[in-house]
Amino acid sequence: MTKKIFVCLLMVSAFFVAKAEKIKVRLFSNNKIEAVYVSFDLGLYDLYANDTLLLEPGLGEGMTVEVKPVANGVSVAVNGYEYGDYRRVTLRATDTACIMCINPRGVKQRTYEGDLEVSSFDRSNLKIINDVEFETYLAGVVQSEIYGKKSDIFRIQATISRTWAMRNMNKHKGDGYNFCDYVHCQAYQNRCVRPDIMLGTMQSSGETIVDSDGKLIDTPFHSNSGGQTANSEDVWRAALPYLRSVQDTFSYRMRQSTWTKVIAREKWLNYFAKTHKLDVGDPRVRAELLGFEQNERKVKILGVPLTRVRTDFGLKSTFFTVVTDAASGDVVLKGRGYGHGVGLSQEGAIRMVELGIAYDSIIRHYYTGASIRHDDGVSERYVEHFVTEITKIIEEDRANPGKKKSKKDDWLGKLFRVRDRMDREEEYDPAKQEVEGDWKIEW
Ligand SMILES: [Zn+2]
Repeated sequence: MTKKIFVCLLMVSAFFVAKAEKIKVRLFSNNKIEAVYVSFDLGLYDLYANDTLLLEPGLGEGMTVEVKPVANGVSVAVNGYEYGDYRRVTLRATDTACIMCINPRGVKQRTYEGDLEVSSFDRSNLKIINDVEFETYLAGVVQSEIYGKKSDIFRIQATISRTWAMRNMNKHKGDGYNFCDYVHCQAYQNRCVRPDIMLGTMQSSGETIVDSDGKLIDTPFHSNSGGQTANSEDVWRAALPYLRSVQDTFSYRMRQSTWTKVIAREKWLNYFAKTHKLDVGDPRVRAELLGFEQNERKVKILGVPLTRVRTDFGLKSTFFTVVTDAASGDVVLKGRGYGHGVGLSQEGAIRMVELGIAYDSIIRHYYTGASIRHDDGVSERYVEHFVTEITKIIEEDRANPGKKKSKKDDWLGKLFRVRDRMDREEEYDPAKQEVEGDWKIEW
């Protein structure tokens, strides 16, 4: 191999690493899985038992793989034909345009891209792991974590979720994967099926949120702040300089802006008497418990942390005022917002996007003193192509609402074709690699 080719190959592999970094996510992590059926919506998959290819050619449309737990491993069958018991089975996508449908017994099915690895915890529970490109995972997370119409809101959520994921890559290291698909990590309930969400995620490629020292920040978020966010130390222990309470009128008049909960008067008073040893016979104590007010966020009610009251009564937030229902005498909690209140209010951010406020200003509104760092994520050329293609698809969809599409017209299929074409160019056209970029090879 000449030196020149070697350098070119290095460049190609560097491009690949940056673009196709893969992570492992455990799927259906909140369920016990006694059997799983996998079918194929797009592309071909190779089936491996342990690390040996089990059958050729690959599996595609019309075929179903069934995996069940057995002692020390799993049993596998294809279209009803039993192959045997193995430690682990893996389905590997043969190219980038592959989508599989995963249908565990008793749980709603979902679709995912990337590879799938199935092993077992014991005789009655499967461990299902999706080996997937980081950015593909992120688009799925954004789709699961936020609603909205404009791509900027997805860009914001993608930046937040990327920052969180990069800080927490080793969260499940001891379990053999990076993340679970549940809110314990970040919700990842399906592959991304919406072009506008994919667009926002691609636009955020390489973006993370950092503090004044350039370090990745903790990026908590919640549904709605109720009009004021909370200080981190008022909810958890650490006082972080970028998680300060801010006024947030953008969270008014959204889906989760207010809530009401009715509690029997005796139940409310007994709770404070028994659990927190307050003398509810004392008129001043009684008056405070029955007339507690929060125009601004408070942390405690008569020394009892509001976070504790929230947990014990299953309240949507700690931001509530207490009134008495004149007719029944019951206690009525009139609440604002939904969630812990720290960091970004998703509905506040949705409103800010609607008002035309720039996505980076929105992030800085909720994370005090933080800024956005732009790294090379996915190759710029790649993002540019994707954004152009997705924008075309979204515009076409808008121009032809209700138009029925064949599988070939699927927007993801189109994107895959663009990506494959670009992969081929990157792989097989070393001459092109040489002229790209502004550096020179010295011999
Ligand atoms: Zn987790």
